[in-house]
Amino acid sequence: MQVIRSPRVYDVCIVGSGAGGGTVAKVLTEAGANVVMLEGGPMWDSAKDSAMFAWNYESPTRGYGGDKKPFGAFDGCIGGWEIEGEPYTVGRGAWRWFRGRMLGGRTHHWGRISLRFGPDDFRRKSLDGLGDDWPITYDDMKPYYDKLDSFVGIFGENHAARTGLHNEPDGIFLPPPRPRAHELLIKRACDQLRIPIVASRLSILTRAHNGRAACHYCGQCGRGCATHSNFSSVSVMLPPALKTGQLTIVPNAMAREVTTGDDGLATGVAYVDTQKLTDHHVRARVVVVAASCGESARLLLNSKSPRHPNGLANSSGVVGKYLTDSTGLSVGGHVPALAGLPRYNADGTGGAHLYLPWWGDNKALGFPRGYHVELGGGYGMPGYGFLSGIHNFPGSRGGGYGAELKDEYRRYYGSFVNFAGRGEQVARADNYVEIDPNVVDKYGIPVLRFHHTWSDHERLQAKHMQETFRSIIEAMGGTPTSPMPTAAEDYGLAVGGLIIHEAGAVRMGHDATTSALNRYCQAHDAKNLFVADGAPFVSQADKNLTWTIMALAWRTAEYIADERRKGNL
Ligand SMILES: Cc1cc2nc3c(=O)[nH]c(=O)nc-3n(C[C@H](O)[C@H](O)[C@H](O)COP(=O)(O)OP(=O)(O)OC[C@H]3O[C@@H](n4cnc5c(N)ncnc54)[C@H](O)[C@@H]3O)c2cc1C
Ligand code: SF4
Repeated sequence: MQVIRSPRVYDVCIVGSGAGGGTVAKVLTEAGANVVMLEGGPMWDSAKDSAMFAWNYESPTRGYGGDKKPFGAFDGCIGGWEIEGEPYTVGRGAWRWFRGRMLGGRTHHWGRISLRFGPDDFRRKSLDGLGDDWPITYDDMKPYYDKLDSFVGIFGENHAARTGLHNEPDGIFLPPPRPRAHELLIKRACDQLRIPIVASRLSILTRAHNGRAACHYCGQCGRGCATHSNFSSVSVMLPPALKTGQLTIVPNAMAREVTTGDDGLATGVAYVDTQKLTDHHVRARVVVVAASCGESARLLLNSKSPRHPNGLANSSGVVGKYLTDSTGLSVGGHVPALAGLPRYNADGTGGAHLYLPWWGDNKALGFPRGYHVELGGGYGMPGYGFLSGIHNFPGSRGGGYGAELKDEYRRYYGSFVNFAGRGEQVARADNYVEIDPNVVDKYGIPVLRFHHTWSDHERLQAKHMQETFRSIIEAMGGTPTSPMPTAAEDYGLAVGGLIIHEAGAVRMGHDATTSALNRYCQAHDAKNLFVADGAPFVSQADKNLTWTIMALAWRTAEYIADERRKGNL
């Protein structure tokens, strides 16, 4: 195989340009390092590439995205549940894997729900005996959450003093937008049931911030924001990195292996040019793997050498193990009080303006950990499948034709609400990824095989979600749109991976025999190798993980800069 070798030796090579990789690039270039970033997908900038201003009827499929665009025809992500020529396999249990393949990764279309983990989330084993504690605490992370809040811009409210929810730490927030009618009705029901409901925490600008324009409430965040008013790696992290003149981005560069020298240290990264199908090698003094949890584990497991026969950073054999996703399920409801309302201006951000942080007391509940609740409803842009099945809706006059059908659509439009729970899975070593010995992708890179099941901890949490969401819908005077799933159906718990919060497959810890990375996400086995995505997580939380991916990546990058200054790297 002929390999085209780059003559230049960079200070740092980052693999992946998403939430983690983008953050590391910003911090390290600003600290003076020259950085090469390998990104498996093409360049993409929402300012020119997003379809933010299009109507669904402008698409030939009326907004339907099919298999290639599962979140809609105009969704701002190249990639998906299946990528042609890049398979993965599943062994025990079930798993779905959503991958982005573009500059910025999945950060163009993510939901921007940006929740800090709380103090308890870093020390779960000490609190309930399950799983493991992190090698760091909330106090170690707080300065980086603060930097992130201040630099990126996030709206929300500090409510811990009012709600008493000490595991929902305060942040540095822009003013939240006003709740919309369906959210106010949900709030009324939650108040009645004594379930706390507070302003959402979304990385969307409600005021101009750090040179970026305020949101103008088009509600299309999932398409990628053309005015850079919400967070994506390309809108927020890469511009300051590029401004330093120290960042070289290599798009369409799929890393196949982190190379190492006789001393066991990383020497650079071997990659495939996915357009020309040529093989390349780039040299660097430090390598940061930030290809997303699964891809980072895959890359390390594929980086075998005489010094690292089990794969890189894997003398403990832990790489690939402790894979987790958030628990998740949704319950929808029809609320007659919202039907046929006079139209009012319900414009807002592309996410909910209120949410329910976890409020439960596990001692009284019979399951560990918890979940938060994401709200849906209101007047979304109609498209393919809009209000389908209308003839079966509660109180339907049967659908009909022509003017009668249009009247029915107008009456039902905006009268549905949705509750999506996102909770914590307890990490287990027997949920893992490994290299499938029999399958390679179209570049000849061995692929991952997933093994993942839920336990009763998660099933009982799902039952609680179902019962809670149904009780809120009923308190709103509404009717759930689906029957209560049974225990045999895992109470509707989504298959692992479907919530797209994968974490834990290259875990950090104090002990090099049971963890791959130290408290700075630095490999125990190779001091110039770091991981900067969800892979180092010791556990999930009842919060979405990306704000913590970025805070941890920021901390890792500052450590690298510091060690470089001291001459240790
Ligand atoms: C629809 C959707 C909604 C979401 N909503 C939320 C939310 O509201 N809140 C939240 O916290 N999280 C949310 N998430 C999850 C969030 O998007 C991810 O946690 C986050 O993007 C992970 O960042 P990352 O840097 O690890 O990976 P990514 O953002 O996926 O970036 C990884 C990058 O690495 C590249 N790459 C992969 N392998 C290689 C390789 N071998 N060589 C070179 N490049 C490679 C990929 O092309 C990609 O660009 C959502 C995800 C989706 C899909
Ligand atoms: S709702 Fe706001 S942040 Fe989202 S895409 Fe529209 S303008 Fe951008």
